[in-house]
Amino acid sequence: MLTADYQRLDRDHHLHPFTDFKALGKEGSRIITHAEGVYIHDSEGNRILDGMAGLWCVNLGYGRRELVDAATHQLQALPYYNNFFKTTHPPAVKLAEALCRLAPAHLNRVFFTGSGSEANDTVLRMVRRYWALKGKPDKQWIIARENAYHGSTVAGLSLGGMAPMHEQGGPLVPGITHVRQPYWFGEGRLGEGRDPSPEAFGRLCADAIEAKILALGEENVAAFIAEPVQGAGGAIIPPESYWPAVKEVLAKYDILLVVDEVICGFGRLGEWFGSVHYDLEPDLMPIAKGLSSGYLPIGGVLVGDRVADTLIEEGGEFFHGFTYSGHPVCAAVALANLELMQSEGIVERVRDDLGPYLAERWASLADHPLVGEARSLGLIGALELVADKTTGARFAKSLGAGNLCRDLCFAQGLVMRSVGDTMIISPPLVITREQIDDLVRLARQALDETARRLAEHRATPSEEASA
Ligand SMILES: *Cc1c(COP(=O)(O)O)cnc(C)c1O
Repeated sequence: MLTADYQRLDRDHHLHPFTDFKALGKEGSRIITHAEGVYIHDSEGNRILDGMAGLWCVNLGYGRRELVDAATHQLQALPYYNNFFKTTHPPAVKLAEALCRLAPAHLNRVFFTGSGSEANDTVLRMVRRYWALKGKPDKQWIIARENAYHGSTVAGLSLGGMAPMHEQGGPLVPGITHVRQPYWFGEGRLGEGRDPSPEAFGRLCADAIEAKILALGEENVAAFIAEPVQGAGGAIIPPESYWPAVKEVLAKYDILLVVDEVICGFGRLGEWFGSVHYDLEPDLMPIAKGLSSGYLPIGGVLVGDRVADTLIEEGGEFFHGFTYSGHPVCAAVALANLELMQSEGIVERVRDDLGPYLAERWASLADHPLVGEARSLGLIGALELVADKTTGARFAKSLGAGNLCRDLCFAQGLVMRSVGDTMIISPPLVITREQIDDLVRLARQALDETARRLAEHRATPSEEASA
């Protein structure tokens, strides 16, 4: 089939996730046919550097023979069996053990799911169940953050703080409330009450959690949930003061900490988990994505001793689970993925070599006239596109600068994603220094071309006021 055939069938029959169906139908989708290493290939013969590791997940890159073999062997031995009704199978058991060995010491149990969204549904169930078992059924409220992403099931979107999703998904799960996000560039530097230092701003955001706890009453608050670094929200790296201050707040009150590691887990920040980087002690850790390098869908929740012991000792049957919880083939691939990450020293390489190297190269983009901030941590990074470098004023939303830049990136051979006018990257963890150089060079080319196009379309100055 030719590209046009695929595009026609796609338009006629396929509803894509997070997509304006009609607009895509007019434009036609890009057909990705194969991939190797850090490169994807499309049906037109273009090779594109995948700066997003698929959707933040293909951490070991494409075409890993070992993962294919693990899947093949398991498909032959046992393609499916469930973990309900007192049964299990070797891949699920071995993966559970491996995960608990790699996770911080107090996390010794895992509940498997098919995705990150299902992991967060599981979190909601476990948190409320835990407090009910503790004789505190009023502890129901979960404090989450604005602009957080925790998935797209009803529980996931309710825990998440994405306003456009909330507008379409309601009524949301009751008992979830949101506090401000530690997004210094967007809300500290550019927001109201401008220009507290990032450090002061980080503490303000932690104060907002405490204020919320006091407003709801500690006796009604079950948990606080957050991503170590917000991913889909725009690769938002909190100020250094944020997590220590949050820890201090949470320590004052009896509230569970849920750290959503779906993106930050498995090496993205240069440690096995974002919680290790930020020295957090989560009670629950939802995981997915990089767990299998995206080769097969699998997620889970790592459960700390405090919650696990209660669920085990006092809970009786927990009425929750999925047909594909701990699917043998997915678990076998995830296990092989973890083994490869260890034998190749991937996490250490991100921490000691690639992360610092990306930080230096990525920061070099900060001199570009369109860039208001260039930030990165480990192998996650963002560029803030601005109309005015000194004031940080944004382009008019109608200009769609971020999407323009994203499309130009793709055309130049680089996948970089846009979140509003924030450009983000999250490349495979097996990227080389040379490929990082290439990524940064392509990003700069795309920025130049974006600047040229924006200058052509330059609207009247009044339309350019920050959006
Ligand atoms: C992607 C993501 C999820 C949802 O995972 P799915 O597998 O898409 O359901 C949850 N939390 C975070 C932080 C994510 O990035």
